[in-house]
Amino acid sequence: MSEAPRLKRVLRRLAEGVVTRFRNDSRRWAQMLDGLDPEIFVALLDPRGLVLEANATALRLAGLPRERLIGQPVWEAPWTLDLPASRLQWRQLVQRAAAGDSVREDLQIRLPDGQVRTVDLHLRAEPDRRGRPRYLIPSARDVTEERQNRDALSEHLRRHRFHLGNTSMAVIEWDARLRIRDWSASAEAMFGWTRAEALDRSASELGLLAESERGNRQRWLRDLYSANEILSPVLCRCRRRDGSELLVETHRSLLRDGAGQIVSLLSFSQDVSAREQSLRDLRASEARYHGVFDQATVGVALLDAQGRWLQVNRSLCKIVGYDEAELLRLDFQSITHPEDLAKDVDLANRVLAGEIPGYQMEKRYLRRDGSLVWVLLHVGRIDATAELPVCFVSVIEDISARKAAERRLQALQISLEKQVGERTQQLRLSATASEQRNVELAQVAETTGLLAGARDVDEAMRIVGRSCRTLFPLADAALYLATEAPDRLQLREHWGNGPRPAENLLADHCWGLRRGHEHRVEEPGDPLRCRHHGGGEDGDDRAHSCLPLMALGERLGLLSLSWRAGAGWAPDPVLLRSLAEQIGLAIGNVRLREELRRQAQHDPLTGLLNRRQLDEHLRQRGGEYQRSGRGCSLLLLDLDYFKTINDRFGHEAGDRVLQEAAALFRRCARVEEAVFRLGGEEFVMVLATEDPGEAERAAERIRAEMQTLRVSRRGQILPAVTVSIGIACLPGDSPDVHKLVNLADEALYAAKHGGRNRAQRYDRLSRPPELPQARRS
Ligand code: GH3
Ligand code: MG
Ligand code: MG
Repeated sequence: MSEAPRLKRVLRRLAEGVVTRFRNDSRRWAQMLDGLDPEIFVALLDPRGLVLEANATALRLAGLPRERLIGQPVWEAPWTLDLPASRLQWRQLVQRAAAGDSVREDLQIRLPDGQVRTVDLHLRAEPDRRGRPRYLIPSARDVTEERQNRDALSEHLRRHRFHLGNTSMAVIEWDARLRIRDWSASAEAMFGWTRAEALDRSASELGLLAESERGNRQRWLRDLYSANEILSPVLCRCRRRDGSELLVETHRSLLRDGAGQIVSLLSFSQDVSAREQSLRDLRASEARYHGVFDQATVGVALLDAQGRWLQVNRSLCKIVGYDEAELLRLDFQSITHPEDLAKDVDLANRVLAGEIPGYQMEKRYLRRDGSLVWVLLHVGRIDATAELPVCFVSVIEDISARKAAERRLQALQISLEKQVGERTQQLRLSATASEQRNVELAQVAETTGLLAGARDVDEAMRIVGRSCRTLFPLADAALYLATEAPDRLQLREHWGNGPRPAENLLADHCWGLRRGHEHRVEEPGDPLRCRHHGGGEDGDDRAHSCLPLMALGERLGLLSLSWRAGAGWAPDPVLLRSLAEQIGLAIGNVRLREELRRQAQHDPLTGLLNRRQLDEHLRQRGGEYQRSGRGCSLLLLDLDYFKTINDRFGHEAGDRVLQEAAALFRRCARVEEAVFRLGGEEFVMVLATEDPGEAERAAERIRAEMQTLRVSRRGQILPAVTVSIGIACLPGDSPDVHKLVNLADEALYAAKHGGRNRAQRYDRLSRPPELPQARRS
């Protein structure tokens, strides 16, 4: 028990000795400590950890005057008072340093203002002459921000590593010399190089950039060393290990350490080849849409819900006589005929309200010059989308010609009825009471009825022939019809036993035609005989009567009778005139009906059958195949690069080429084969053969002839236009005739794809094309 107080005394003396020695050094120490970097905390401790001296920084951090800090154990100083872990750490560090270790650790301290900071503490022992620790010297530097940066950086790196493995983007980490430092699994998949192959290589060593992208490497380097943190994404063409190319969009970011030094560059790449392709498809489809819109031969327009024109095509402008800019300032209401307005507005409102999907009506527009134009209007609704409010789409077809024809037909019928009435009345008045007269009268009435029902000119001719023979049994009769040439008529029918009448006659040579009403010659020597009845020269002595056939003031033909003069019989003039009138009206009637039918079935530009007729024709071919098993083949023909003709030489030149091509197709078809214009520069031929080989040979002939076709316009020879042809056969390719157009279209697509100016059989397609939907919208 007596040992302990003695030991204590010895220890105290020892300590006093240190302090005494230290006091001698103290001036030197104080000077030295304060001369140090003011950022650095430095103190002097005795080997037990009591503070002997501290520099100004340490005093400031402790928030104590010097006298109060000196003599305290360093772990009792205010900077660790409420941080028990730090206090413990201090004590352990002091023990380790006193045992001779030089120690260095991060340590937390509390500043007088309450902040907790991290310091990098270095504690070493100053030995005495015998090598035992004499003083301990802690020095510390505030590293709070540095440590935070370091943690953030490692977190950043950890996240990037995570992304490297878990994103579909190819993630590549490059070092400052642009060598690959890391290479994700997606990068392996995208470029075909494994991680092991890629590491430590440069992009050019791997040949990652396509030939066309040489300049990009420079750009990467420039970006890397510029101070700018935000690197814009780059789009560039890259090359895979197997040499194939792909389009890649790359986002990049720079990684810097706490001191702002560039550690690495991260790149995130995405294969956008497909996106680019679909963009290209979209652009093509838009161009096609605009092509169809602009070139449509009917008017096409988009209107908003109030009826204002939003978009109009050329044809519409032509129909209504306004130019595009004027039209876009108007709405449909302001150019609609007032009598048609209420119905149109009502139907449009019902479409808007969703009661009906669309409508169709015949109506009149007021053209800019005040005239009226009849149109057939089809209206549909386009539902609202994110980009567009609800709107209407209108297709407007100019039907003035048809309306005019209908009006003429109606007028003709009214006039026909009126004249029948008048003539019947006249006949009745002029009729003698004789039986014969009544029979004739009945005969004319019957003829009138029959003629009104005649379907075509042939039928009308048969009816006229029958009447002529019954009414005028002793006369020869000839019927001439007007031709394209204004003053030339052609023999259409003749009846009787006399010599065959002249085949053609000039209007000038017939007094009836020149005078516009009946011209009758009954005297043999009459000098006013018509030329075609031997007038002038070799004295035909037969009597004759020539009656022009008229309808609505237009000269349609001539009815000419001849009979033996002086035999006591001559045709009754009233009867004859009446018959001629009926014939004229009937022919006019039939012609108009034929014209209407022709207009409805044919394409006005090329004269070929139109798309509607194709449907009808295919239905018939389908029926025939059902009945007799006889198939057919369908050629779908599309002129190559036709748009360039329009673009370079104008639309009229394009029209000429279409007409010449149509004529060529027509020439190449056999009589029983049909040619249609599907629209634009697309045509269809339905061939009689069902053998694909034969159809292919026919197509090949057409293709070859087309290549040599030269079209000239205004003295200029246009460049040759080639044609691509798709071929599909019934039943070889499909037993459904209505599928042929689609199959031929697929073959045509392949022909276009394969370089154009070629014919392609559907059954020879190496694989069904996978992208047809993307092509034709
Ligand atoms: P491809 O070889 O791919 O068929 O090219 P293309 O230019 O022939 O085909 P595209 O479909 O791009 O263009 C067809 C053009 O036909 C667009 C339009 O200008 C023109 N077109 C359509 N109808 C008519 C018409 O009645 N008259 C004239 N002159 N051109 C028309
Ligand atoms: Mg086309
Ligand atoms: Mg074409």
